[in-house]
Amino acid sequence: MGVIKGLKDINALLDKPKYDSNAAKVRWLKLADGQSAKIRFVEELDSDSAHYHESRGLSVVIAEHTNPKDYKRKAACTLDIDGRCFGCEMARKEPKSGWRSKLRFYCNVLVDDGLEDPYIAVWSQGVSKQSAFNTIREYALETGSVSNLGWKIKRNGQGTETNYTLIPTAPDSEPFTWGEQEFHNLEKVVREVPYPEQEAFFFGFDSPSVTSTNVEW
Ligand SMILES: [Zn+2]
Repeated sequence: MGVIKGLKDINALLDKPKYDSNAAKVRWLKLADGQSAKIRFVEELDSDSAHYHESRGLSVVIAEHTNPKDYKRKAACTLDIDGRCFGCEMARKEPKSGWRSKLRFYCNVLVDDGLEDPYIAVWSQGVSKQSAFNTIREYALETGSVSNLGWKIKRNGQGTETNYTLIPTAPDSEPFTWGEQEFHNLEKVVREVPYPEQEAFFFGFDSPSVTSTNVEW
């Protein structure tokens, strides 16, 4: 980004990030440490599943970058779609810095936490071998489906130490009746920032290259 000249460009930088309008309003599954809930997966993992339905679709895995110094600045990796990606460039420049893209699993779940009426939320998980995602994946490989039964989910730990245990219940004997629920668009839950704007996005206004010392007064 370098030196910013001209009020128009400076104002553009100071204006609210325009990606906000881009980001869908999403309700996330939030459980406290030790809290458990009943959930049901909306999507299937594969369209070959006997319980796949177009209206519910598929869950997704997204490659994303996070500014290691500011975990809120997270955006999808664009290397595959654009051939260019600022996060990948940072990871090459500073291999141990935490810029490397990471895969995360995103799905809609119908949540019954016993506190309020069941609601739809997005649940996201890393895809490591130890993660709850692996439980779902193994279950899908074994039985073909994950949306035809209820699951008990429990959160353990906090922050980066958070993990979830997932326990399947017996599969439905009658097909589950989905109501009028609206599902979140999983392709919009992670910001996709165009390459030319990625550096500014990841560094926000705190970018070392945009500090006041670089502005010529
Ligand atoms: Zn990337």
